[in-house]
Amino acid sequence: MSQTASSFENYKIKQSLERIERKRSHTGATSLVSLYMPHGTSIPDVTQQLVNERGTAANIKSKATGKAVIAALSSILNRLKQVRTLPDNGLVIFCGITQTGKVEYFPIRPVQPLTRKMYVCDTRFHTEHLRDQLEVKEQFGLMVVDRESAAYALLRGNHMTFLRKLHSFVPGKHGKGGQSQRRIQRGTEILAKDHLRRAGETASELFLEIPDLKGIVVGGPSLAKENFVRGDFIDFRLRDKIMGTVDTGYTGEQGIRELMEKSTEILKDVRYLEEKKLVQTFLSELGKDTGLVAYGHKEVMKAMELVAVKTLLISEELDVIQTKVVCPQCNYEKQEAVKARNFVEFEEEIIKSNCPECGSSKLSIDDTQDFVEELGNRSAETGALIEIISIDTEEGVILFKSFGGLVAILRYPIREM
Ligand SMILES: [Zn+2]
Repeated sequence: MSQTASSFENYKIKQSLERIERKRSHTGATSLVSLYMPHGTSIPDVTQQLVNERGTAANIKSKATGKAVIAALSSILNRLKQVRTLPDNGLVIFCGITQTGKVEYFPIRPVQPLTRKMYVCDTRFHTEHLRDQLEVKEQFGLMVVDRESAAYALLRGNHMTFLRKLHSFVPGKHGKGGQSQRRIQRGTEILAKDHLRRAGETASELFLEIPDLKGIVVGGPSLAKENFVRGDFIDFRLRDKIMGTVDTGYTGEQGIRELMEKSTEILKDVRYLEEKKLVQTFLSELGKDTGLVAYGHKEVMKAMELVAVKTLLISEELDVIQTKVVCPQCNYEKQEAVKARNFVEFEEEIIKSNCPECGSSKLSIDDTQDFVEELGNRSAETGALIEIISIDTEEGVILFKSFGGLVAILRYPIREM
């Protein structure tokens, strides 16, 4: 699976998990079921196991808890009847009576294959294994360089691996006066350049072989790092990945540790850079009039239908969920559009508040429509990639304000018919 496809899936699953993690059983009873089924799990076996669990639940001392467990298991068993085979990465089901007072059911397709089967019944849902899968595993190169030394490390998540230290002999700047001083100075400059060249070669040797290296941060206490980045010392493939320079007080391994602490802000900008590039690609195709773009809701949808979309760019501002809030007591109904990133808070608010008509506390969200998720399902069928673009960059604002937040980069031009 490509990096970009999973960036969208990660984004959507993270939203779902945040919602699921706030759920609690309605009376504090251990009645919320988390069921992890790796691909290849036998559905009849799981069904049998759940039927057995349901039988045991009838003997639970607290009648309320027993009933809640039975309700959760019955709901899962009903849904499993419709499942023939599990998705490639398996399936996770969260189900039970939550603080809403209703049985809620959340099926999640993991982004990576599940490795083990698990059944837990608790007061909350267990999402830890899905969280682990989402943990960012991007790799970055760290490099500290000064006039005569260089050090290299690899950063993966929060884990740093020190790779190598390099030391060249470059004499200090102080020397005798006169002609010999100039000669020494020239010699020193040549040696310093040699050192930076070697530092660049070592960077190539260490970093070029790392697949999907996301970026490189260069640190150091002196101007040498700027000279290194600006000069012709580093392979062009690595130069494109340099994300910035950072002043450090130290060199060597200590300098690397310092660099790691100081570069968190720079590393956070990686996604922004990706987003900028994606929008720039769209704008450049548009400017060159290659016919390889579509914008405007109708045009983009047409391109989707024709399976012509390579990448769909959607502004995060369009990631809105249409909700219907209902009161079962008096049939009060209200429709509201909620930003996906605010949905969890919205849902909690609804659970806490009373019906404005009859004052009942049974207000609940009856129906939701998630436009972006629907687009996601449709693009999965057509092989299009989806990218959610924030409005935290200038390009993201352009996408939202000038293009309605929805554009596509196409595989082939669509001719007017
Ligand atoms: Zn009401």
